Amino acid sequence: MTFNVENIRKDFPILERKINGKSLIYFDNAATSQTPISVIESISDYYKKYNANIHRGVHSVSEEATEAYESSRKKIQKHFNANFSEEIILTSGTTHSINIIANGYTDLLTSDDEIIVSGMEHHSNIVPWQMMVEKNHAKLSVIPLKENGELDIDHFKSIISEKTKIVFLNHVSNALGIINPIEEIIEISHRNGAVVLIDGAQSSAHFTIDLQKLDVDYFTASAHKLCGPTGIGFLYGKKNLLEKLTPLMGGGEMISDVTFEKTTYAELPHKFEAGTPNISGAIAFGYALDYINKIGLDNIYNYENELLNYATQSLKKIEGLKIYGDTNNKTSVISFNIENLHPYDIGSILDKFGIAVRTGQHCAQPIMDHFLISGTVRVSLSFINTKKEIDKLIEAINIAKTMLS
Ligand code: PMP
Repeated sequence: MTFNVENIRKDFPILERKINGKSLIYFDNAATSQTPISVIESISDYYKKYNANIHRGVHSVSEEATEAYESSRKKIQKHFNANFSEEIILTSGTTHSINIIANGYTDLLTSDDEIIVSGMEHHSNIVPWQMMVEKNHAKLSVIPLKENGELDIDHFKSIISEKTKIVFLNHVSNALGIINPIEEIIEISHRNGAVVLIDGAQSSAHFTIDLQKLDVDYFTASAHKLCGPTGIGFLYGKKNLLEKLTPLMGGGEMISDVTFEKTTYAELPHKFEAGTPNISGAIAFGYALDYINKIGLDNIYNYENELLNYATQSLKKIEGLKIYGDTNNKTSVISFNIENLHPYDIGSILDKFGIAVRTGQHCAQPIMDHFLISGTVRVSLSFINTKKEIDKLIEAINIAKTMLS
């Protein structure tokens, strides 16, 4: 498909909205991406035509719902190139997925073991592990950031050892947009006998991910960053590893046999999917992947890169503006501050112009501490944005500067 942004924008009904009398300019795509009409309609179709619980009923409607739910699992498997569909666990999103893994390792690790996290993480890839080490007393070490915001890989090489059992980090930082060298980190970790969990919440929307080629052990993403609905995502894990983990939640659907004396768990993937799942969300996630594949991730990557370069160059012309994590290998996220102005004040004025940006710590306080700042303004671009919108952003920032100075 040839990439035509004006045609693509017609698929997103929210872009017709006016905010404070102006056309919505949505630059908060890293928090949640917008949803195309095909995905929205897949949810209403489910409720209109085949709303039923899955995996249980012998009746036709339940079978249709089950088939659609399972076909989404297969779409995710294919899109991310997992070996087996049972390696794809449908979860409520990245946070849920990471909690499954951290909980699963609680009983497998002891105070003799070590785990390594990057200093560039979203809180959801920090806190579940802290909760784990409180129980098993494994040692948690951190890969520090270099001055420019990139990970200090030499430091990582110096702290990893045969004691290290898990290394976990994001593929792309939500606060800075920096793409981490995960291939190298996976290779070093495996050489030392450690498994790797990659938080793909911010990478999966921007470029192709091949799980088998990466040889990553665990990977997770959220549909709402990928043109899908909120409350649904997936956890990938290599089959032999997932089989060893205790499930986070017990309940219906995840069992093989239940007596008051002992319960045995169901096979993968059901072992980790207790209770009635987000059926319509899972189905819509499949439609979101269809939509992205129709446009093509290569087209998306190239166009977003063009927008990123244009926006970066335009922002750099503003006096007193400083970009954090301004490196060469980035997705389309720009985090910045303007001398003597509070990010919140800038964000509030931009909203008056219908421009949605995020301000604050972006759930990544350690990154802000690294740069000795309390927060940033974050502009996160996607393939639904245009250069014209970026020009309007620059105009609005200049007005905000005059108003606030
Ligand atoms: N990790 C990263 C890098 C993120 O950007 C986010 C969402 N901002 C999460 C984890 C958490 O994702 P969710 O809220 O969908 O669970």
